[in-house]
Amino acid sequence: MKFRFTLACLAAAAMVFSYTGCDKVQKILHRAPKEPVVAAETATPTPATPTPKPATPTPTPKITANHDASVIVLCYHRFEDIKSAMSTKPEDFDKEMQAIKDSGFTVISMQDFLAWRRDEKPIPAKSALITIDDGYVSAYENAWPILKKYGYPFTMFVYIQYVNSGGKSVSWDQLAELRDAGVEIGCHSFTHQNLKGRTPKAVADQQKLGGLDQWLKREVADSKKVIEDRLGIKVSVFAYPEGAYNEKAREAVRQAGYEAAFVTYGQRNTFSAPAADLIGRYAIEQGKPKTFNDALAMIGGGMGPVGSAVMAAPAMASAPATPALPTVPSEGATVSDAKPKISAVLTSLGALEPESVQMRISGFGLVPAKYDAASQTISFQPTTQPLRDKDYTVIVSGKVNGKRAEARWSFKFDPAAKK
Ligand SMILES: [Zn+2]
Repeated sequence: MKFRFTLACLAAAAMVFSYTGCDKVQKILHRAPKEPVVAAETATPTPATPTPKPATPTPTPKITANHDASVIVLCYHRFEDIKSAMSTKPEDFDKEMQAIKDSGFTVISMQDFLAWRRDEKPIPAKSALITIDDGYVSAYENAWPILKKYGYPFTMFVYIQYVNSGGKSVSWDQLAELRDAGVEIGCHSFTHQNLKGRTPKAVADQQKLGGLDQWLKREVADSKKVIEDRLGIKVSVFAYPEGAYNEKAREAVRQAGYEAAFVTYGQRNTFSAPAADLIGRYAIEQGKPKTFNDALAMIGGGMGPVGSAVMAAPAMASAPATPALPTVPSEGATVSDAKPKISAVLTSLGALEPESVQMRISGFGLVPAKYDAASQTISFQPTTQPLRDKDYTVIVSGKVNGKRAEARWSFKFDPAAKK
């Protein structure tokens, strides 16, 4: 009974807090890719041995993925004709699926996306992934028939406490049916708590389970195992509850052996960026058609209105539901190195005029950052002036079609922090 009660609370909490404003905060930055194949670095807990594939019987020539392709990822939740931001009306969903086709996108499977990121398989230049979070039965009952009609593959991200809990939840049997039809099943944690682990409930759970690491293990690794055991599959992908993460959560995701993990800020995903454990998604909400339109405009449609959305970022930066920024250092991270590499990939800001790209750092001002137009990566490393303050904010900006766009993130400096 306690279990059920928790669920109700979680569902309610998810309704209130999830994704609030995520679509508005087009903050886009992330870890600069160190090497082209980012997948390997997150896929294997031991980074030294990137053994990407089992031995193939015939030595076929290596297929190189088309590195210029881009992928947008859409994130849905439930599909009912009810008044809820999280619910997409089935008829609207149908129209959106048609619009994807009309805009020249190819909907690809999760496995094709992963193979592309591993440099094993090409994908169409304009590709889209469809993901459905939480495990509402309306995904099975209402979305699936529509997705079948269009022949679109998709991914269900479910969290353990909700599956088979009655009410509006999908059952394990239904998930098995989806699995048999080729639907990718991903993990969305055990209890759908924000993995930063700072809520009173999270803190209490951590005490019960023996600490933050154990708690994260349950949310990220044990949950994966449950799905794998129940459905007899390999779970390759994870979606952070509320799109929230920090370095500890990312580490847990890497340790658990996921090949990719998804957040909820909309952006164009390229071959090498963002990092495989921070793939961006557009969280589609009822009554906010702009998010969907922005997603379609992100590839091939030039900049669209995204630049202006980014302009609003400073006001959003203090909103509690704002997801952490994918950058180096990542949003909220603490660094001990007084001369750290500071970088961001600006793909989602659109077609930036290279000369216009700038980085500002609190306590530094405008810094002589290097901008690589090919990868849209801006980076800077303090050489003469080391970090001294406790908190730093980094602001990156540039011009797109003559209009200014910017994004920002923060990190902390503590020379005594553990590396
Ligand atoms: Zn969720």
